[in-house]
Amino acid sequence: MTGSTPAPFTADDYRARMERAAQAAADAGLAGLLVAPGPDLLWLTGYAPTAATERLTLLVLAADRDPVLVVPTLEAPDAAKAAGASALTLRDWTDGKDPYATTAALLDGSGRFGISDNAWAMHLLGLQKALPNTSYVSLTEALPMLRAVKDAAELELLAAADRAFEEIRKVPFAGRRESEVGADLADLLRRFGHSQVDFTIVASGPNGANPHHEVGDRVIERGDMVVLDFGGLKQGYGSDTSRTVHVGEPTDEERRVHDIVREAQEAGFRAVRPGVACQEVDRAARAVIAEAGYGEYFIHRTGHGIGVTTHEPPYMIEGEEQPLVPGMCFSVEPGIYLPGRFGVRIEDIVTVTEDGGSRLNDTTREMVIVD
Ligand code: ZN
Ligand code: ZN
Ligand code: ZN
Repeated sequence: MTGSTPAPFTADDYRARMERAAQAAADAGLAGLLVAPGPDLLWLTGYAPTAATERLTLLVLAADRDPVLVVPTLEAPDAAKAAGASALTLRDWTDGKDPYATTAALLDGSGRFGISDNAWAMHLLGLQKALPNTSYVSLTEALPMLRAVKDAAELELLAAADRAFEEIRKVPFAGRRESEVGADLADLLRRFGHSQVDFTIVASGPNGANPHHEVGDRVIERGDMVVLDFGGLKQGYGSDTSRTVHVGEPTDEERRVHDIVREAQEAGFRAVRPGVACQEVDRAARAVIAEAGYGEYFIHRTGHGIGVTTHEPPYMIEGEEQPLVPGMCFSVEPGIYLPGRFGVRIEDIVTVTEDGGSRLNDTTREMVIVD
């Protein structure tokens, strides 16, 4: 699905990414990278196999050789059509042959390799058997920031789901199920150009106190707070935003909690600038909520990166000392969750600029009253 709308990148773009990745691997002391189908392969080559199969597909990147994509013979014609195909060599293997021997011939037999987190265990075991003196580390552990810094063309593609919010705030909420409003949101995301809807959270009343609640059968009532959180992929790049609306007039307490989250989100956003550690964004947002007395009710990290997926490094979380770099893109999404009562979350995607941060989302962060 992710590959259904090809991003407008050229073979040169993919060549540069593969060179950068191979260099980063060498700098990290690795003999190379082994990349299975998924977001990294798509980002590095433009190739996303139409179906994930048990047959081995693996991109081999090493600093001292040209990139090689090992593919099943029957999928080679598709792989050859990928936008990055001319920047690599295809090495196909036929059913009945040993794909691990084919791959092993490309590798340093005593090297340590970074391998995609989502590579099948079967394939890793096959490689280990073919080359017993090699060792492996997960790609995310070895190079967590590989895709974190976006170039100008990627930043152009990062989508905002703001138009979906501007429309959903006009639909009736009271008397309808969360799942119905969620279906409206999915329709709106598609109408405004998303090729893939990743999530449409409609968490009303007490359901809003569970950050993992998506949609359910609960009928939304007047007086409910409703957390809306939605996004997906548009032109191969992600969107993700949250706003919390209220059905009818809110109470003073509901207003106060919403104001605290809004201030926390603002504080997190203002902490964004090059050189600042990711954890400082989390700390800035968290401090506002803690000082207001709701610290124990902010039960998740402040943000996550976004790019060819809707959740990826860098993470805005205590303990993450990675400094922010211009071109990084991530959410700032503090929340307060009052068990059995209601929740509030406000989320924008923020890009690190040369001297601060820039919000991708531009809908009001004031509490919106819906019907
Ligand atoms: Zn209420
Ligand atoms: Zn979200
Ligand atoms: Zn998010």
